[in-house]
Amino acid sequence: MNSFIEVIGIKEENCINCHQCIAVCPVKICSDGSGDVVKFHNHLCIGCGRCIEACIKSHGGNVEKSARFPIDDADDFLNDLDSSEVIALVAPSAQANFNLKKLISALKLLGVKAVYDVSLGAEISIYSYHEAIESGKAKLPLIAQPCPAIVKYIELNHPALIPYLAPVGSPVHNIAVYAKTLHPQAKLAFISPCLAKKGEFHDSQSVEYNVIFQSLTRILAEKDINIDLLEESDFDNYISAGIATNFSTPGGLKESYLFHYPETLPSSISKIEGSLVFEKYLKDLETAIKEGQADLPLIIDILACEKGCNIGAGCINQGRSITQIERAVNRRMEISSSEAEKTKELKEFLGKITQDLDFSYIFYQDLSANSDIIIPSELQLQQVYKRMYKEEAKDFRNCLACGYNSCLQMAVAVFNGLNKAENCHLYQEKELLREQEILNNMVDELATLNSKLEEEMAERKQQEQLLVQNSKLAAMGEMIGMIAHQWRQPLSSISTLAGNLKIYLDLDMYEKKQFLSLLEEINHHAQYLSSTINDFRHFFKPDNPEDTVYLNVVIDNTLGIIGKSLEYKNVQLNINTSFSQPILTYPNELMQVFLNILKNASDAFVDNETSYPRIQINGYEKNNYQIVEIIDNAGGIPERILNKIFDPYFSTKGPGIGTGLGLYMSKTIVEEHCEGELIARNTQEGACFTLKFPLR
Ligand code: SF4
Ligand code: SF4
Ligand code: SF4
Repeated sequence: MNSFIEVIGIKEENCINCHQCIAVCPVKICSDGSGDVVKFHNHLCIGCGRCIEACIKSHGGNVEKSARFPIDDADDFLNDLDSSEVIALVAPSAQANFNLKKLISALKLLGVKAVYDVSLGAEISIYSYHEAIESGKAKLPLIAQPCPAIVKYIELNHPALIPYLAPVGSPVHNIAVYAKTLHPQAKLAFISPCLAKKGEFHDSQSVEYNVIFQSLTRILAEKDINIDLLEESDFDNYISAGIATNFSTPGGLKESYLFHYPETLPSSISKIEGSLVFEKYLKDLETAIKEGQADLPLIIDILACEKGCNIGAGCINQGRSITQIERAVNRRMEISSSEAEKTKELKEFLGKITQDLDFSYIFYQDLSANSDIIIPSELQLQQVYKRMYKEEAKDFRNCLACGYNSCLQMAVAVFNGLNKAENCHLYQEKELLREQEILNNMVDELATLNSKLEEEMAERKQQEQLLVQNSKLAAMGEMIGMIAHQWRQPLSSISTLAGNLKIYLDLDMYEKKQFLSLLEEINHHAQYLSSTINDFRHFFKPDNPEDTVYLNVVIDNTLGIIGKSLEYKNVQLNINTSFSQPILTYPNELMQVFLNILKNASDAFVDNETSYPRIQINGYEKNNYQIVEIIDNAGGIPERILNKIFDPYFSTKGPGIGTGLGLYMSKTIVEEHCEGELIARNTQEGACFTLKFPLR
């Protein structure tokens, strides 16, 4: 594989994977779009520079951010100016970018020893083409080769056309040969917009430095040389170019040839430039030559850039209109070709110089081996199309969005690993639709799940209600014991009082006032019994309304039920609460929670035979919470079960004694119904249950 001189620099980190470089590239396969950034294959690049312009455009015109940049010899040129004799060869397109005569002065100011006009080299090309055609040395049709990008493209992709490339040097090659005879020690610098020329110089070794207009402008700015302020100067060639000063314009070669050789039929010279050259023209030409078709042209005036060399990759004239640019070149051409005497002198010069010097060009080479593209079989192609989601005729849009000229070209690139199916517009569209469908299905599934969940939640809520009620019922047995304790003392008092009344009646020694007082006392005890019954009835009521209450009231009501039972067991009860406001909660359910905790403490006193049983109830507010702590001294909860006590059906009380639902229900009530928190921990003497309720 032939390695080429690099004229395109890459900053992969700046690549935004827009594929614009592929879209504009006449070769396509010199860019690899199969990854996250587009990679570059220099051995296939013809150096046309189109990708640089496209990349800069993709970055909003910001040259610094562009992933592609031109590589020329500007720095070496500048460095060698002081130490070497450097001669500049200026391309005809300079007229479209600078004030040409001031540019000559600027170059001299930089240190260039002499400046020659490449248009004169173009005159040599025209003269030599004619000679080669007349003498039969050129194979016809003669393909002109001032454009190195075209030459490289032919070498890579149409090696059958190589023998038809002009056997004579390009304008810059010719002027270089001439300048070398005048300045044998000098190093030559070509000043032009063309990046690809660097490759030609590498092949022919005719010129040392390729300096594009953009780089020269940068150098002049760095050296503080304001070209507009300089005097005008002339080229150092003692004879001036004539009509060929228009060589940079499309058709300039044709016009020049017809000017010098008017007997030539204009129709015998084809003029072609731009994308068509690569997409169709050269392919058709190769076929036409192979088939020996009639009416082949005599000369093919061919350029890679749409507007010739006047508007190209290395130009600095982006601010000017095409009309202004072309007029500047044409105006110069009109002047330089207007004097018959000068044209005569030029012809004599050309006749002599082509006798004295060798302008032949022999450096063409077959580079087709560089291109290792494999054309897939029909079956392989179908497999690639399948990967690209191309299933029916309308999927072959040939929309160019991937950067290739057709779906087939893209498929070939994918097959060769130079791109990927994901970069096809249609693929992305179908993938999007597929993802949308998946999303829609997911939304449907979610909706179904949601309604199921809602049903399950409603069911669970119902079950929880049932559990609350069941656990209340389960506690009923224990409550009967508590009622017995509540009633023991008032009942015995009623019985004693009634007994006293009977004795007074039997002895017939009662006073009305004393009798009434005893009846009053009996009534008081009966009222107490009735209110106790109300407390219990209220507690067992299945409906469960939300209410705004003070937590200390709920605690008092709870103690109304269990208080006597605790008293009977000699439990010392200390209550210390301070709440500034009521909270919205479920008081009846909270009573159940307090009862569960107090009952557990009471049972633990018995199980652990606690000598001086004590329960401390603290109530206070902190950080927008109302907090209740119930602390006992019954020895605490064994550490191994501390994290299980709130599990459903977990009980330490042995079969048939506990339901295992008390603390589970308590946690459910506090955390899910009252949006609070219930935690348990051990203190030094016993257990501490902390209940936190948010102040809403
Ligand atoms: S310089 Fe031309 S041939 Fe080379 S990658 Fe860029 S567009 Fe393609
Ligand atoms: S033009 Fe090419 S190199 Fe530049 S950002 Fe786009 S894909 Fe990358
Ligand atoms: S349909 Fe896809 S493969 Fe075909 S040209 Fe458009 S983007 Fe490229």
